[in-house]
Amino acid sequence: MQRNYDTIAAIATPIGVGGIAVLRVSGERAIEITQNITPIKLHDLESHKLTLAKIHRPNDEGDVIDEALAAVMTASSYTGEPTVEISCHGGYMAATAILSALIDCGARLAEPGEFTRRAFINGNIDLTRAEGIAGIIHANSELGLKNAVNSAIGILHERVNTIRAQALELAAHIAAIADFPEEIDDMSDAEFITKAKKLQNSIKSLQSSFKTGKMLRDGIGTVIVGKPNVGKSSLLNALLREERAIVTNQAGTTRDTIEEFVNLRGVALRLIDTAGIRESSDMVEKIGVKRSIENVESADLVLLVVDISGEITEEDLAIAQLCAEKNVILIANKSDLMPRYQPTELRERLKLTDVEIVTTATPANGEVSGVLELESAIEEKFKLGEISNDSVYIFRERHRDALLRAASAVERLLDGAANGIPRDLLSVDLEDVLTALGEIVGTTVQEEIIDEVFANFCVGK
Ligand code: GDP
Repeated sequence: MQRNYDTIAAIATPIGVGGIAVLRVSGERAIEITQNITPIKLHDLESHKLTLAKIHRPNDEGDVIDEALAAVMTASSYTGEPTVEISCHGGYMAATAILSALIDCGARLAEPGEFTRRAFINGNIDLTRAEGIAGIIHANSELGLKNAVNSAIGILHERVNTIRAQALELAAHIAAIADFPEEIDDMSDAEFITKAKKLQNSIKSLQSSFKTGKMLRDGIGTVIVGKPNVGKSSLLNALLREERAIVTNQAGTTRDTIEEFVNLRGVALRLIDTAGIRESSDMVEKIGVKRSIENVESADLVLLVVDISGEITEEDLAIAQLCAEKNVILIANKSDLMPRYQPTELRERLKLTDVEIVTTATPANGEVSGVLELESAIEEKFKLGEISNDSVYIFRERHRDALLRAASAVERLLDGAANGIPRDLLSVDLEDVLTALGEIVGTTVQEEIIDEVFANFCVGK
């Protein structure tokens, strides 16, 4: 395919005012193209060494755009192709002028993720490492970063390969028996089944890491609900304790949704639609109810706030009903005022059995309390203490789907073996296991899946 071999260029750093901006050029003609915009003899540079270089308009040494640092990477570059990196001054003008100069000289503007895609196509990295790299860029918590790094440095790849080796051992045995029946000792049925069960356990154990992996990637999607004035916005502020929160503004389908991230023992609590909580005019509040319904549906955790200094109303009950099927923590707020009932009575009053209750006080000018207890309750609910730094957790739906397919192929294999189906017929199931595992690392993967993996990257990565 032509586009794999042309030379691409992009600005790899975010556009805006800053110290430096980095441009990347990769492809067979990277050095030749860049040579048109600098007097430095790029072919003479040692690989991976930064050199001070004037950057000028194409073939016009007198028209200098910027003074920058340039590095040529010929051996073991990220993409596996000749690459030039230019670190110029930050801000909008210099970097974009250099990029246009490169395009004028024959480079093509890179698509999102195209540098990493080339690294994959050229065999430098597998898909799980590419996804790990994307994960590092998008990480929103300490443990989320750690898991992404573990994938980026190849730990998930290794883990999948270990499982592949177990399947290969069985497949190779079947093939050897078919080819050299006299020379190879046949495995007993019991031994064959034991090995197949071990394979099954390895697949299932990796598959079951998805829940944690997804949480590490996306954070715990949390909504705060409750009728007006119970203290949702005050609770939000108490949780945010501004200095440790990251605010992001993500374009929703119909409007902008503001999400804020709170660091909770290394994991992100992703507070959904916090703009909705802060809006309070009647009209918006009405839209807010509809919003709450949507938000509750997509949430991993619902914090249902009730004002225990007032009576429970129909509105409280209606909101509680919305949350009945969800993972709920009940917040008995305004405990600094005279309570109308014991917080523990809330379960019965709201018809929510088995939910945890945390009592809080979040007055505007008084002492906030109960927030640490709430954090501990969340930590316990999501077993954050059990997350290990050294393990790798799968974090993409496609990993889980492939493992589910691998697991059902092993199931068929075990059924067949138990029912006395000849071994050579079972090799079809092992082929399916190997294909599914190959999809995770990218050896047996279809083009559309690769497109999807790289579609989530940024330009310049
Ligand atoms: P929201 O409409 O649910 O977001 O409620 P707000 O957070 O805006 O709070 C409504 C009012 O209750 C504000 O005046 C808050 O200062 C007050 N408030 C919130 N939580 C508490 C609390 O725990 N104790 C007391 N005394 N007042 C609170």
